[in-house]
Amino acid sequence: MNDYYADLGVAREASADEIKKAYRKAARRLHPDVNSGPEAEEQFKKVSQAYDVLSDEEKRRSYDMGADPYAGAAGAGFGQGFSFSDVMDAFFGQAAGQAQGRGPRSRQSRGQDALVRLDIDLADAVFGGEQELTIDTAVGCGTCHGAGTQPGTGTRTCDVCRGQGQVQQVQRSFLGQVMTSRPCVNCQATGQVIEAPCYECSGDGRVRTRRTMTIRVPAGVDTGTRIQLAGEGEVGPGAGPAGDLYVEVVVRRDPRFQRQGDDLHATLELPMTAAALGATVPFETFDGVSELEVRRGIQSGEQILLRGLGVTHLRGSGRGDIVIHAMVSTPTKLSSEQEDLLRTLARMRDEEEPTGRLANPAEGSLFGKLRDAFKAR
Ligand SMILES: [Zn+2]
Ligand SMILES: [Zn+2]
Repeated sequence: MNDYYADLGVAREASADEIKKAYRKAARRLHPDVNSGPEAEEQFKKVSQAYDVLSDEEKRRSYDMGADPYAGAAGAGFGQGFSFSDVMDAFFGQAAGQAQGRGPRSRQSRGQDALVRLDIDLADAVFGGEQELTIDTAVGCGTCHGAGTQPGTGTRTCDVCRGQGQVQQVQRSFLGQVMTSRPCVNCQATGQVIEAPCYECSGDGRVRTRRTMTIRVPAGVDTGTRIQLAGEGEVGPGAGPAGDLYVEVVVRRDPRFQRQGDDLHATLELPMTAAALGATVPFETFDGVSELEVRRGIQSGEQILLRGLGVTHLRGSGRGDIVIHAMVSTPTKLSSEQEDLLRTLARMRDEEEPTGRLANPAEGSLFGKLRDAFKAR
């Protein structure tokens, strides 16, 4: 059995690109004009066979599984499913092989896709809605309607390629004389030459313009979400069909909420007294003001949940939650009267000489959890 990988000098896991490169290199080295040694031709057949098998996904797979299409047919080489255009590629560059057998090209082609960034507020991500978007793209030229010609003028047949879009060339090679064709430069391979280019678009059939459009942003989008708008991208040359427009969403940082998936996290600062006594606190959400019930004795790091007031799920129905993390704040400035009161309280609670008891790790890690939750954003 032939070892095609060794013949081409590539590894068994070589990519299609590596195989092509190795073949080109070998083919150039073994060209009879460069290499007149008696083995060159034989070697050339060998690498050609190897390339024929390894460049074809199907053949390569069956070869890797033990089947050799050339087994027993030593030196079969050309003519047996061997791609002539690959040889032409190797010697005359890509264009020579590819241009063969094609007629003139159309002046019109599909436009490119465009990508724009859209910054939105968190509230817009929660509910979705309409957004204005200003984009710079190519649109069809209104003066020539894509033809590229000055109004009242037309095109004439290219006299370099006589309307074929390609020019023939005779090249000498080790295979004898070969006809190759290349795209015509004079007419960009279209076969037609514009007599007087349109003054508006210089013959391209399209112009760049800035336009403002209103787009619908679905609820639940997050930074990195892409919205595809078919046919809203760049119009192609010759006013060809437009590509697609991709709008990439960036959600601005919100001063109050941090988003984790579709949940919104916030920190609520509570005076020591309110934490001890319990309280009702007005709390503003995207749906309006909620009356937040703070239970008496709440600790720093404990959570209050507002179910279903978070971000709308992008797929499916329902919404995430608002998770409020309590943070008890200790007074830093005390009047002498307040200090007296606190000292009295401490005496009554037998807390004048705290023991320095270590917190239960489960309780103590509440703050850690809170910190970690924010670090994760
Ligand atoms: Zn024009
Ligand atoms: Zn031409």
